[in-house]
Amino acid sequence: MDGTGEGGALLMQVARRYVALEKAIREDIDRFVGPVCAQCKRVCCKASYCRNTLLNPWYHYLFEQFGDAIPLPWERRDPPPGLGPNGCLIRAGRYAYCSAYNCKAVRVSFESERAFKAFQELSDLLKDVGLGFAGKRHLTDVRSWDEITLSRLERLDKKIKEGMERFSELHSLLCMVKPGDLFTRIVF
Ligand code: SF4
Repeated sequence: MDGTGEGGALLMQVARRYVALEKAIREDIDRFVGPVCAQCKRVCCKASYCRNTLLNPWYHYLFEQFGDAIPLPWERRDPPPGLGPNGCLIRAGRYAYCSAYNCKAVRVSFESERAFKAFQELSDLLKDVGLGFAGKRHLTDVRSWDEITLSRLERLDKKIKEGMERFSELHSLLCMVKPGDLFTRIVF
């Protein structure tokens, strides 16, 4: 299939659901660890990660359809093209491993291991829905529309729905953590 031909309706439906999950996860990441990242002088972004949005047909489709039409200097290496003054500019179709990455400073900003584990699981959700998308290959490894078949899209849709349910549980759990449990210890 391709982005506009057969299966276009299913593609758009799955894409909308994925982007809704992506947005919800991003908002929670911003909410729970945004203050930690804002104080950090290190750059954990890499141009090669951003380029997954350009090279992967699924991510690129999401970026074009839902990414606020932000033009990015894809050829730039340093700083990475997706990195803006306030964080990642890729609002849709961001490389799933970027959401999943939590450094030591983020980890120690959580007072309890239980809270961090819940946060890490929430951060991993987009990575998890893409596991085994094309046989043993992850969704992030896809490079051609030929690999995005209807049956794979249907399976992805199911995994996104499961991811949304798990997101709700993790979100509720993290919101129950008292503010004092978060952001109290930040070590660089
Ligand atoms: S978080 Fe955004 S800017 Fe940073 S590497 Fe990932 S895609 Fe690029």
